[in-house]
Amino acid sequence: MSQPYDRVFNFSAGPCTLPVEVLEEAKADLLNYKSTGMSVMEMSHRSKPFEKILAETEADLRSLLNIPENYKVLFLQGGASLQFSMIPLNYLGAGQSADYIVTGAWGEKALEAANLVGTTNVVYDGKASNFNEAPSFDSFKLNPDAAYVHFTSNETIHGVEFLTDPSTTAPLICDMSSDILSRPVAISNYALIYAGAQKNMGPAGATVVIVRDDLLAKGPAKMHPILDYKLHAKNTSMYNTPPCWTIYMCGLVYKHLLNTGGVIASQERNTANANTIYKAIDASNGFYKGHAVGGSRSIMNVTFTLPSDELTSTFVKEAETHQLDGLKGHRSVGGIRASIYNAFPIEGCQVLAGFMTEFAAKNG
Ligand code: PMP
Repeated sequence: MSQPYDRVFNFSAGPCTLPVEVLEEAKADLLNYKSTGMSVMEMSHRSKPFEKILAETEADLRSLLNIPENYKVLFLQGGASLQFSMIPLNYLGAGQSADYIVTGAWGEKALEAANLVGTTNVVYDGKASNFNEAPSFDSFKLNPDAAYVHFTSNETIHGVEFLTDPSTTAPLICDMSSDILSRPVAISNYALIYAGAQKNMGPAGATVVIVRDDLLAKGPAKMHPILDYKLHAKNTSMYNTPPCWTIYMCGLVYKHLLNTGGVIASQERNTANANTIYKAIDASNGFYKGHAVGGSRSIMNVTFTLPSDELTSTFVKEAETHQLDGLKGHRSVGGIRASIYNAFPIEGCQVLAGFMTEFAAKNG
C-alpha cells in the first residue's frame, strides 16, 4: 500500500509519526512564517509573532484537555527525564515521603531520581512479572499523607496502561509522556501532569507540565532557578529561551486534533487501531504472545513476543518489505513493539495485522 510521499508506516516509540497535514503546513511556513519574512526557527522568542504562537498553543491545549483555570501550563526542556528530578526536588521535603507506583521502566527511573532526593514508599512494583500489568488502584494502599503519589499512565516499553484515574487525597502526579491526548482525562484529579512532546504532540524538545496552583505554591523558597516550577510559571515558560520550534509544531498538532474531533475521537481511533493488532495476536493460537495481561493492554504501544529470537529477527526484516518500520521491541521485553500514537493511520495497523497472520501461517 503506497503512502503519500512514499512514507513508511512508522511504528517508532518516539519521536514518531506526525500527521501529514501538520508536516505539510510546517513545510509551507518554513521559509516565511505568515509574512514575517523568517522561519519560526529564526524568530526571537520575545517577538510578537512567537508570543502569539505560545499563547495560542497553550489555549488550544487547554481546550483539548479541558484544563481548569487553577492550573498553569508550562513548556519546559530537559525531557520527561528532567521531571523525574524536578518533582522530588520541588515537592519532596525533609521529613516527607512520596508514594511511587512502578509499572515499568519509566516509573523505575522516576523512582531512582526521587530516591536521590528523599524518602519514597513503593506501593506497587511489577518487576517480578516483568511489568506486564497496570494493577487495579484498589489493590494497594496509598498513604493519604504522602507528599505526592507518582505513577506512569502508560509504560511505553512494556505496553501497559492505566485507563482509569486513581483517586487519592494526596497530590497525584502522573507521567503521561506516551498517552497524553490519546483519550479524555479528568485533569482536576491531578496535581501535576507531565509529558514529553515527542509522541502525541510534536517533535522532541519540549515537555508539557500541567500543574495545579496549590501544588505550585508548596514549592520550596530556595531552588535552582532553572529547576523551579514557580519561576517558570511566573515567567509563562519564558524564564529562558523556550523550545520555540517544538512549541510551534505542538501548536499545529493541537489545531489538527481540535479539527478532527479532539480527544474523544482520538480515543476511538486509537482503540480501533490497537484492537486491530491485539485481534491478530489473539487469533494466532499462541504463536504471538501479548506481553501485557488483559485489561492492562496499552492502546499506544502494543507489545508481543514470537516463539524465538530468530523468528523475531525474520519478522522485523520481512515487515520492512511491507513498509512496516520500527517494530523491534525494547531489549528488556524482546519481541515486537508496535507504537501507534495518535497520528498513526488505521491502514498501517491493518497491514501489520495481515502480515502477522500470514507470517504465523508460514512459520507456525
Ligand atoms: N516517560 C515515559 C513514559 C517515556 O516513554 C519516556 C521516553 N520514551 C520518558 C519518560 C523519557 O522521556 P525523555 O526522553 O523525553 O526524557
